[in-house]
Amino acid sequence: MKIEEKLTILSDGAKYDVSCSSSGSDGSFTGSTVGNCSLGGICHTFSSDGRCISLLKVLFTNYCIYDCSYCINRVSNDIRRASFTPKELAELTINFYKRNCIEGLF
Ligand code: SF4
Repeated sequence: MKIEEKLTILSDGAKYDVSCSSSGSDGSFTGSTVGNCSLGGICHTFSSDGRCISLLKVLFTNYCIYDCSYCINRVSNDIRRASFTPKELAELTINFYKRNCIEGLF
């Protein structure tokens, strides 16, 4: 599986964690409506000194052997599965960082 595909699956899987839930918007404002928040990916949070910072928000894996009924990643749920290797996630993170897209990883 290509790393882009893993990133799509595992950033989408991270959207259920409400921490750092802000991720920008699609900007599809029309009259009386408001835009939709973007799906998972890069989210915003605040540092201890009050700066707004961007984080790459992604799961390391969505494989799980347990079956907690409330969880999207439960073993009985029929979803696409993926895992990063530590090297893949480290390289993804540092490459986003070098391009000034993120300040950290969540
Ligand atoms: S199924 Fe349960 S143990 Fe597995 S990831 Fe979800 S909450 Fe965690």
